[in-house]
Amino acid sequence: MRASRFFISTLKEAPADAEIVSHKLMMRAGMIKRLGSGIYTYMPMGLRVIRKVEAIVREEMNRAGAIELLMPVVQPAELWQETGRWDKMGPELMRVKDRHGRDFAIQPTSEEVVTDVVRTEIRSYRQLPVNFYHIQTKFRDERRPRFGLMRGREFTMKDAYSFDRDTAGLQRSYEIMFDAYTRIFTRFGLQFRAVAADNGAIGGSGSHEFHVIAETGEDALVYCPDSDYAANMEAAEALAPTAARAAPTQALTKTSTPGKQRCEDVAALLGLPLTQNVKSIVVVTEGEEENGAGKQVWLLLVRGDHDLNEVKASKVPGLAGFRFAGESEILEWFGSPPGYLGPIGTKKPVRVVADRTVAAMSDFVCGANETDFHFTGVNWGRDLPEAEVADLRNVVEGDPSPDGKGVLAIQRGIEVGHVFQLGTRYSEDMKATFLDENGKPQLLQMGCYGIGVTRILGAAIEQNFDDKGIIWPASLAPFEVVLCPMGYDRSESVKAEADRLYEALTAAGIDVILDDRGERPGVMFADWELIGVPHRVVIGERGLKEGKLEYQGRRDTEATAVAVDEMAAFLQ
Ligand code: ATP
Ligand code: MG
Ligand code: MG
Ligand code: MG
Repeated sequence: MRASRFFISTLKEAPADAEIVSHKLMMRAGMIKRLGSGIYTYMPMGLRVIRKVEAIVREEMNRAGAIELLMPVVQPAELWQETGRWDKMGPELMRVKDRHGRDFAIQPTSEEVVTDVVRTEIRSYRQLPVNFYHIQTKFRDERRPRFGLMRGREFTMKDAYSFDRDTAGLQRSYEIMFDAYTRIFTRFGLQFRAVAADNGAIGGSGSHEFHVIAETGEDALVYCPDSDYAANMEAAEALAPTAARAAPTQALTKTSTPGKQRCEDVAALLGLPLTQNVKSIVVVTEGEEENGAGKQVWLLLVRGDHDLNEVKASKVPGLAGFRFAGESEILEWFGSPPGYLGPIGTKKPVRVVADRTVAAMSDFVCGANETDFHFTGVNWGRDLPEAEVADLRNVVEGDPSPDGKGVLAIQRGIEVGHVFQLGTRYSEDMKATFLDENGKPQLLQMGCYGIGVTRILGAAIEQNFDDKGIIWPASLAPFEVVLCPMGYDRSESVKAEADRLYEALTAAGIDVILDDRGERPGVMFADWELIGVPHRVVIGERGLKEGKLEYQGRRDTEATAVAVDEMAAFLQ
């Protein structure tokens, strides 16, 4: 590629809404352009990286025996109603109507469609196992789109779906995908960790997440440096012995039993111990939203003793609500007079564990989302020093590893892949069967496997950058090599050598860009350091006189002189 025929658009400053380094650098390097909240145009420079990610994913999926197809983005609601996800997914599922008023989903994943393909195409056990995948645009109406491509609303995902005749087959298909993922993230050149994502046995086998390790990651990963135990925080918490959990400082007085479990779940989710002294709280647990925003909890705070029905009927003055997800993050609140319970009335989301107002609330009445399932005298948190409040977790560094082989460490990660054994969750609802050897219909055993293709870009940058810009791993870089001629438009000899080397490298299959824009060296270098091309060759008159070119790797502090004739070989 010649820079004069490509599109390069770099910025000195990142826009104000870019909070984390990858978002800032991608904007500055002209890789993406914001169109709306969580919706981006992939600019030519960014698209090249996306294509490299896709190529590696595709190669490894094919190598692992998965078969590529392409399923529609817009999918009839009927399929989604068959599995109940039309209702269960809530507002994260984007819905549209056609001109006849028929409902459609814009796919956040494709379990329904692929199961529909398989139930009509697969008849016999002889056709199994089979694994279909596609690399396709997804839409999720995320509550808080942020961090550029990291949590977009429109994004690209590779999603694969395996179908087997029995659970042993599913286990094998799952392991094949697990290994393919390990190869894929290794080829990306990223530091990553696979963690158990379910709360089954040690090392969990039903589901794993693949995380790129980065300080800015939204997830906490728990692992044991002395063994191969690794789990996401949720799964680790579920395994933790009760003693390791934050214990209530005061027992609950319950007014009815069925709500108990749920209230304790809420306390565990918040990572807050229960204490004393607040007037009233009604806790509503919404449970797990499938493929949606994860575990969600509503807290409705009211003055006085009321049950949820009164609250729902809005008969209660001074109502305030929090909605939580994942690691106790307040997603939104509503409806309280300003000044009541601190942050309510302001619009800025905060982390509840760091929120003194919540930590200081006490003496609530607490119940679940059914009539009479509430407690009195429930207390959420105590007045703790800020640092301690922030550190409240059920699993902390130094806790014994559940496998008994050492102590636990915690690091942060970005979820870039997720593999999941679904079993018959979809095939049952959609009656997806095959005929076994005896001609008897059996339900298909299904697995699903996602990779956040566009999220990889953000994750790679969070792990690889410096004060000058991005440092792409070679396998993901938009260009592997940039040629920077000093005076391409002025010097015959420089131009001749730059063109010759460009042709030679192109012929050798190296992804090279020749910066023939005629920019000053400072501008040229700053652009390519920002964009993050891993290898740079400078072609100057003075060096040419001695038969030398200058090579500098993106992480090198100094340039190396390389003989003109040896450069092509040097770069391979
Ligand atoms: P998260 O926990 O970050 O919301 P998820 O668990 O909802 O992700 P999955 O349903 O497991 O996501 O989807 C598979 C992969 O798709 C994820 O591992 C992630 O890499 C990617 N992904 C999910 N949501 C987004 C998004 N909003 N923007 C970009 N990539 C995403
Ligand atoms: Mg999600
Ligand atoms: Mg997740
Ligand atoms: Mg996931």
